[in-house]
Amino acid sequence: MVQRLLQPGEIEALDHNAIPRLLLPHPASLYQARAARLRALAAGEVPGIPVEEALKGYLTLMACVADAQHTVVTRLGATGVALPANEELKLAHDHNMPPLPATGTRPAVWLGVFASLLDALEAAKDAPPQLAPAVASLRATPSAELEGIADAILGSFDEGADPLRAPFIAAALQVTWSLMAGQLDAAWAQPLVTSTLCPVCGSHPVASVVRIGGQSQGYRYLHCSVCESEWHMVRVKCSCCESNGKIAYQGLIGKDEDPQLENEAAAKAGKPGYKNIDPSKVARAETCDDCHTYRKIFNQEHDFHVEPVADDLASMMLDVLVSEAGYARASGNPLLWLKEDA
Ligand SMILES: [Zn+2]
Ligand SMILES: [Zn+2]
Repeated sequence: MVQRLLQPGEIEALDHNAIPRLLLPHPASLYQARAARLRALAAGEVPGIPVEEALKGYLTLMACVADAQHTVVTRLGATGVALPANEELKLAHDHNMPPLPATGTRPAVWLGVFASLLDALEAAKDAPPQLAPAVASLRATPSAELEGIADAILGSFDEGADPLRAPFIAAALQVTWSLMAGQLDAAWAQPLVTSTLCPVCGSHPVASVVRIGGQSQGYRYLHCSVCESEWHMVRVKCSCCESNGKIAYQGLIGKDEDPQLENEAAAKAGKPGYKNIDPSKVARAETCDDCHTYRKIFNQEHDFHVEPVADDLASMMLDVLVSEAGYARASGNPLLWLKEDA
């Protein structure tokens, strides 16, 4: 039986309680899945996201980082990073603030998470040659400097985020925040005034993902770059300025309509619709001519294994195409920090 897809207007009109608004992370499986996806991308096994030769080494390095994140999560266990006290969660809730703010006082335990991450990286099996010197340089970094780089990452400003060390520090922060978010009662997280920021920690999303399965079928979520939560946002809407008038989609092949709309057009014309897997619809950039930014959108309807952080990193060709067309990237990827004035 083919499930009928909803029009964007109908999605908005639905009882909001029916849509899972917030998908909290499952750190116990998340990093393992990311590592596997990064390796598949590096091996050229993802038809929708062809990877240039020059990027393969970096993806393998980041796969080692994701493995190390998984090791640390396993070592710490689900309750390894304590949630703030209930009074603090309530205060945030009552003021419509994120309950686990990324820019607030950092839980001191993150430095321990970082140290465990370095231990796990040292034990990495298929480590590319650049890993050992990176770990040595990270070990030699005084904690005051680590805190400074963490401030830059969580405040999302490039200045002060040393490109060589920032991905590893971001990885430790992701583990710290995702372990907290994984224990959170979703009721503490209120939708914020702006739906372009994570309702759990207030950070920018790294990318969008169209999910399948259960009640999330066909809905678009934004994936947090820090705590790994996902929150719902209607499709065909700018995830940066929230306008919906001038949205277009740029794939690696060409510019076109929202894949969902195309599927509906195909269904109306009696052609096979969204059940068909189409690699060209796995990774796209959603561009906005109101604010001239873009953010990528990955579609699980066309590739079950899409993983927003990994796929964003691997689809750098799309960034090149879209930036050449005059759009600025709405926000960065925590695992990639470019040098200023590069
Ligand atoms: Zn978050
Ligand atoms: Zn916009």
